[in-house]
Amino acid sequence: MSYNYSMERKIVKIQSLPVDTYSFEQAVDYALSVSGQIVTINPEMIAYAKKDEDFVKILEEAILVTPDGIGVEIGLRILGYKIRRIAGIELAKVLIEKFAAQNKRIALVGAKPEVIAKAVEILKNEFNGINIVYVQDGYYADESAVLESIKEAQPDLVLTALGSPKQEFFNYKLKSILPNSLTIGVGGSFDVWSGMVKRAPVIWQKMGLEWLYRTIKEPKRFKRIFPTLPLFVLSVIKERVFKRGMTDA
Ligand code: UDP
Repeated sequence: MSYNYSMERKIVKIQSLPVDTYSFEQAVDYALSVSGQIVTINPEMIAYAKKDEDFVKILEEAILVTPDGIGVEIGLRILGYKIRRIAGIELAKVLIEKFAAQNKRIALVGAKPEVIAKAVEILKNEFNGINIVYVQDGYYADESAVLESIKEAQPDLVLTALGSPKQEFFNYKLKSILPNSLTIGVGGSFDVWSGMVKRAPVIWQKMGLEWLYRTIKEPKRFKRIFPTLPLFVLSVIKERVFKRGMTDA
């Protein structure tokens, strides 16, 4: 099925920030028809945006902002929008598949050297003939040198795994350097693809409990989720009350 993207993106706002309402399939189709920055947004990023206007600008200028995870899905539901979450790692994987099938140029930036090396090896096995033109681990000292060398490689798709917000700032810089490319921040995806980190079993994913699984496996993530997640839900409830007040008036 194909969609008509000459129409406007349907964006809703959560905490004054834009989120696209596409389904997974629509998001893939749309992403394949544009260039620019894709952001897969989660509650931690929404909380971060409150303290950093530059990050807000990145979200506003992004070509696509997908709701990554149950937190944003619940937040949107509180505001009355029934939009399914899109796992960033799955979106990124399908983009790789599609770009590989068209022999387009792919760059990977981020994660530890041994992690990215393994992830590249596995992707090459999975996608025969994949054209990976640039690989750079995420622990470099000279960012401008990295930006310069990625420009020379001229990738069509850049996957950046530096954690947020670092990866979003990095991809934002790429917008002017590679104006015809698509970029996406992929968080811990290389760790998963390399086999070094396991995703939660599918049943946990389906129930929207992947965050809980990851926190149990890696308890230091606890302080990233708490108090961010409950505070996020509270802020959205406040937003909902305010919105209702405005419509009642
Ligand atoms: N990372 C990196 N450089 C840095 C900081 C982080 O390459 O300076 C990598 C890290 O090795 C991991 C990825 O960023 O592969 C994402 O980390 P995390 O799991 O914290 O991100 P999340 O998916 O939770 O946003």
